[in-house]
Amino acid sequence: MVLEKLGDAMTGVVRKITAAALVDKKLVKEIVKDIQRALLGADVNVKLVMELSKRIEERALAEKPKTASPKEHTVRIVYSELVNLLGTQASFKAEKGRTLLVGLQGSGKTTSTVKLARFYKKMGLRPFIIAADTHRPAAYEQIVQLAEPLNISVYGDPKNKDPVSIIKQGLAQAGKADIIILDTAGRHKSERELFDEMQEISKVYKPDEKLLIIDSTIGQQAGAQAKAFQDAIDITGVILTKLDGSARGGGALSAVAETKAPIKFIGTGEKAGDFEIFDPNRFISRLIGMGDLATLMEKAKETMSEEKAKDVLKGEFTLHDLRDQVDALSKMGPLGNVMKMIPGMGAMNLPKGETEVTEQKMKKFKIIMDSMTKEEMQSPKIINSSRTKRIARGSGTIPEEVKELLKYYSMMKKALKRFKKGALKRGMPKDLAKMMGGLR
Ligand code: GDP
Ligand code: MG
Repeated sequence: MVLEKLGDAMTGVVRKITAAALVDKKLVKEIVKDIQRALLGADVNVKLVMELSKRIEERALAEKPKTASPKEHTVRIVYSELVNLLGTQASFKAEKGRTLLVGLQGSGKTTSTVKLARFYKKMGLRPFIIAADTHRPAAYEQIVQLAEPLNISVYGDPKNKDPVSIIKQGLAQAGKADIIILDTAGRHKSERELFDEMQEISKVYKPDEKLLIIDSTIGQQAGAQAKAFQDAIDITGVILTKLDGSARGGGALSAVAETKAPIKFIGTGEKAGDFEIFDPNRFISRLIGMGDLATLMEKAKETMSEEKAKDVLKGEFTLHDLRDQVDALSKMGPLGNVMKMIPGMGAMNLPKGETEVTEQKMKKFKIIMDSMTKEEMQSPKIINSSRTKRIARGSGTIPEEVKELLKYYSMMKKALKRFKKGALKRGMPKDLAKMMGGLR
C-alpha cells in the first residue's frame, strides 16, 4: 500500500476518535499530535503540518455540527483537511491529442510513457509512442521491451541522435492514433541544456499536455522541481512515481500540490498496471482505511468481467471461482492491497506473508486445485487431512501448500462476506460509509 506507515497512523487516529467517550479538548490535542507526528514522518513540510493541525484543532473545537455526531464531524474535519493538503480535486480529464513527458533521468519517464499508453488503451483509445530519448544508451530497446507485450506501437530510431527529426518522423508514422505519447531524455550536461531541448521539442511537437515526471522518493524537493519545470516549460500536470515503498511520498505529494501544478497520475510500482489517476479524495479515504469501493470496482472490472466482479464482490465464492479468477486476482495484487480498498477492512491487521500471493504462487494454487474433486471445489470445508494429503500427492506439492491455498481462499471469502454485509463495525462508526458517500 502506498504510504503504509502514514495510512496506519491515520487509521489509528480515526479509531481513536470513534473509540473516545466524547470529543473534548484533550482528545483533539491528542489526535492533532498524532497527525503531526504521522505527517512529519511522511516528510510533509513542517509549515504545512502546523497550518493543517491548527485548522483541525480550531474547527474540531469550534464547529457545532447539526446533522452529524461530534465524533463523525471530527473524522470529517480530519479527512477534509488531509484532502485539502493534496489539492481537493482530481484533475485528469481524458483527452485525445499529444502528450509530452519530461523529467530528470531515472524519474520514471519511460516507464510512465508505457503506463500511460496502456491506460489510454484500456479506455478504448489508440495510443502511439514516440521514443525520443537520444541520450540514454539503448533507450529505444527499453521502451520497445516494455510496450511490445502490451501491443502498443512505438516509433524510434536508435541511430538518429536528433530528437527533433525523430519526432517529425514519428508524427508521420502515427497514423490513426488517438493519443501520441512522447518520451524524452532526462540526462544532459546541464539543466539549461535540458530545458533548451524541451523548449525546442515543444515547438515542433506542439503538445496538448506536458506532464512532468517526478520521483516521489525525493520528498519535499519535488515542490522545487515542479516549480523549476513550471517556469521553464509551463507543464500542464505531474505524474508522481515510485509512491510504492517511498516513506517520503507524503512530502512529495503535498509539496507538488502546494505549487498548484496538478498531480494527474501516480505510479505505484514497476509494472505497467501499477498506475492510477490521482484523486485526493480517493487517495485520502483509502489512506485512512475507509476503503475505496470505486477503485476496487475499477480494478476488478479491469481484470475480470463486470458480471463476475459483482458475483465475487457479493461473496458467492467457491474454489471454482478462485480457480477462474486466479489470474485476475493475482493482477489485483496482494490480498492486503485488495482489503485496504474494502470499507472496514483497511484496519484489519493481516499477517504479512500470508497475504503476499505472488503470481508464481497463484500458478501453484491452480495446479493444486486441478487435483481436487468437483465436490471439494464446491465445498472446501470437506477437505480434511487425508484429502489434503491426497491432493498434495496428486499435484506434486506438499500438504502445507494445500493448506496455504485453503487459508488464502478462506481469507478471501471472509473479506468478501464482510464486504457483502457492509460490515463496517470493526473499528468503524456505523454511519461512516454513508458519510463518506456524502463527502465525495
Ligand atoms: P527515466 O530515466 O525517467 O525514463 O526512468 P525509467 O522509466 O527508466 O525508470 C527508472 C527506474 O524506476 C526503473 O527501474 C523503473 O522500473 C523504476 N520505476 C519507474 N516508475 C516506478 C514506480 O512507480 N515504482 C517503482 N517501484 N519503480 C518505478
Ligand atoms: Mg527513459
